[in-house]
Amino acid sequence: MKKANQAYVVNEAESPSEEAEPPSSALLEDSNNSGLSLLFPELIQFPLPKPDKTFHKIGIRSLQFLRKYFPLVSKTEWNNWEWQLRNSITSWQTLQQLLQLDDEEVRAMTVQSANLPLRITPYYASLLDPLNSMHPLRRSVVPVTAEHLISPGEAADPLGEDTHSRVPGLVHRYPDRVLFLVTGFCSSYCRYCTRSRLVGDQNKRHLNREQWDRALTYIELNPSVRDVLLSGGDPLTLPDDSLEYLLSRLSKIPHVEVVRIGTKIPVVLPQRITHTLINVLKRFRPLWMSIHFTHPDEITPESAQACERLADAGIPLGSQTVLLKDINDSVPTMKKLMHELLKIRVRPYYLYQCDPILGSSHFRTPVQKGLEIIEGLRGHTSGYAVPHYVIDAPQGGGKIPLLPDYYQGRQNHDVLLRNYQGNIYRYPDQPDEVGKATEPLPSS
Ligand code: SF4
Repeated sequence: MKKANQAYVVNEAESPSEEAEPPSSALLEDSNNSGLSLLFPELIQFPLPKPDKTFHKIGIRSLQFLRKYFPLVSKTEWNNWEWQLRNSITSWQTLQQLLQLDDEEVRAMTVQSANLPLRITPYYASLLDPLNSMHPLRRSVVPVTAEHLISPGEAADPLGEDTHSRVPGLVHRYPDRVLFLVTGFCSSYCRYCTRSRLVGDQNKRHLNREQWDRALTYIELNPSVRDVLLSGGDPLTLPDDSLEYLLSRLSKIPHVEVVRIGTKIPVVLPQRITHTLINVLKRFRPLWMSIHFTHPDEITPESAQACERLADAGIPLGSQTVLLKDINDSVPTMKKLMHELLKIRVRPYYLYQCDPILGSSHFRTPVQKGLEIIEGLRGHTSGYAVPHYVIDAPQGGGKIPLLPDYYQGRQNHDVLLRNYQGNIYRYPDQPDEVGKATEPLPSS
């Protein structure tokens, strides 16, 4: 039997589940990483997940990273989601052992105080280009000084969620659905996060079970609520028992017809999608999941396996993608992402215009760019690969869909339509009353 802290040579042929007692030490040192208990208080309040023997794939890139930076760590440990959380990168000193940081990145993390803390799982760090600070995934999680620049129109809570909060953690804006922010914790922090005011609050208090109960009571007392979206923070960072508690309570409310989970976990911490988690989730139907994908490089053997596991459990999967400058703002990148998502049974659902949170101007594209991308997808690929492009209107106006100008107006009873090749077609519209509109149509 191997002893903890003993150097360990990764044996590729060895099945992870065969390791009886893997070592627990890592090579990287992170003086700021104060441990799971401070960063993830939910785990103190609720029971830890039971040990899980789920087999997780490890892609070549991650395996090389594991060997290089965590040579004492076994594949079993690497594939343990709690190990990933405990060893997440939370300081620039640790990050600079992995990436060649440029001046912008170093200044952002040293000179100025950040709105949003740094946090990247080792798995997601393994996907970042160590030499290129413009690498799309790297830009999405490594701070730069531009995030300290506040531009006109930006706000900490641009969607006005706080003004629609009925009880702590519950946003009730639309009559038939609520947004339930069950935690303020994420395993990795996206620099463009709409809820950075929540997840970045150093003094935040994670919701405890008593606060959840208040929110659940509110839902119980409001029969108009038929749809509950669990979000945060990332709900799948909660232990299995906590998720089971929430889903079980919601399943007992007769008027709640559907529960959705919004998460980035399959992308940044696919090791969390264990068989025990799946066994919890699949007991509660209908359960839908919106997964936050940003770029085709995020689709790896690990994330593909996580999504397929969820799809096999009967959970319909949709994607939510934020349109981000110099990250995914081109037709080829977006088309590749949408195609790759369909291959792993995730239906492209929303393409969001980036919300004007504080310090987001370096991420925001002109709206025209989003329209160009939709124009470059619609008709040029399968309809299933075309998401809805929406702007979440500031001050709580809700999601507003945007489409290129396919509708070109009317001529008498004809509707004039432009197709994806730019050709104009007439559609004979149905008159309001049958037989009323009998004028001859102009020939085209
Ligand atoms: S996973 Fe979602 S909630 Fe968490 S930091 Fe990223 S965008 Fe924000």
